[in-house]
Amino acid sequence: MELQFNQEELEFQKEVKEFLDVNLPQHLIEQAKRTTAVFPDKEVALEWQSILAKKGWLVPSWPEEYGGTNWNPAQKYIFSLECANAGAPSLIPMGLNMLGPVLIGYGTQEQKDFYLPRIISGEDYWCQGYSEPGSGSDLASLKCKAEIKDDKYIINGTKIWTTHAHFANKIFCLVRTDNSTKPQQGITFLLIDMEQDGVNVEPIIMLSGDHDVNQVVFNDAEASIDQRIGNEGEGWTVAKYLLEFERGGSSASARSFKAINLAKSLAEEIIDDDEPLLANPAYIKRISELELRAQSLQYTELRTLSSMKKGGSPGPESSMSKNLATDLQQEITEITLDIIGYFGIPKHDNTLGNNEAPVGSEKFITQAGRYQNSRAASIYGGSREIQKNIIAKAVLGL
Ligand SMILES: Cc1cc2nc3c(=O)[nH]c(=O)nc-3n(C[C@H](O)[C@H](O)[C@H](O)COP(=O)(O)OP(=O)(O)OC[C@H]3O[C@@H](n4cnc5c(N)ncnc54)[C@H](O)[C@@H]3O)c2cc1C
Repeated sequence: MELQFNQEELEFQKEVKEFLDVNLPQHLIEQAKRTTAVFPDKEVALEWQSILAKKGWLVPSWPEEYGGTNWNPAQKYIFSLECANAGAPSLIPMGLNMLGPVLIGYGTQEQKDFYLPRIISGEDYWCQGYSEPGSGSDLASLKCKAEIKDDKYIINGTKIWTTHAHFANKIFCLVRTDNSTKPQQGITFLLIDMEQDGVNVEPIIMLSGDHDVNQVVFNDAEASIDQRIGNEGEGWTVAKYLLEFERGGSSASARSFKAINLAKSLAEEIIDDDEPLLANPAYIKRISELELRAQSLQYTELRTLSSMKKGGSPGPESSMSKNLATDLQQEITEITLDIIGYFGIPKHDNTLGNNEAPVGSEKFITQAGRYQNSRAASIYGGSREIQKNIIAKAVLGL
């Protein structure tokens, strides 16, 4: 197992750092610091997206002919690591990392030529319509129905937890086109225009007060036949391909180290009994434990990378990384709130009205929201228990 970067990779790392120094604007770093949700808002993400698109570094995993970089797994990891270290806002993955690869793998030439450039330019902003009330982990039970009438699909049903549906002009959906066969075989992958009468987006407000997710109701919404990806009934295969493509290459450890360093700097600032909290042995112990766990996450990521560099697939390590990263993220936000105590309660300037953002240093006012939003990481992207099931089967052979 090779856990060190070689000379060529170190040179690439230097190139990425230099690019970020010059091209990542300070105001985007500040916006990212104030973001409490999983993803920044649309305009923040799209500004960073357009800077990366100009450099040709927006879609590293796509083939070069569609804008990809031809980077190897180590280069992709380094890029993601350095973006995290520099404090860049996250990109919104639904178009770039989810639908893009699906179109490349299963789309017709016309679909690729039409949709891929619009994903890169940000003209199309996609959301993902998989989950439904009652169908999440058991996705194959989904019920949202599409029937062909007069040469087009008519869609009826409900999708839920749809991240950024309120910003999106398009949604890619798994829909039921056949009830008479095995559940997985009656599912079709459709691209649906959100800007039509039959699509209604209802907000779901998170515990933190953030608006990230929604319920999307289709009431006789329409999609043309050429908005279908793959054949009818092949949606499950297309969706599985998306998951395969997405595994590995995570650099969650870099974000964890950054969050731990922030917690440490806050513990240095807050004085308790004439001493900074960072001098308190109980806090030293808790923070040191988190640092050790962030290191173990980093080694798991590097092990995944090492096997991918040799042409292997990430395997169950990606499920281990997901759970390690989730636990760590949740515990870092917990200790951060413990450190700042009542300074973490967002304050509002009443002269601005109730809808204005809380005032104060983002170091303090973002922590309660981050703590609350990080609970959702146990569920999205495959719940903690589903990941454990994968590990139990793939590693322990249970
Ligand atoms: C913040 C957020 C954003 C999301 N964004 C999107 C999005 O953009 N698009 C989208 O389609 N979906 C999205 N989701 C939905 C997400 O994918 C689902 O919530 C997830 O798959 C779990 O499904 P569920 O909510 O139906 O819970 P369930 O599947 O009902 O699970 C409930 C509980 O039971 C456990 N459980 C379920 N099955 C098993 C099993 N076989 N063994 C052991 N335990 C089990 C789960 O771990 C969980 O604790 C989002 C969710 C959240 C929280």
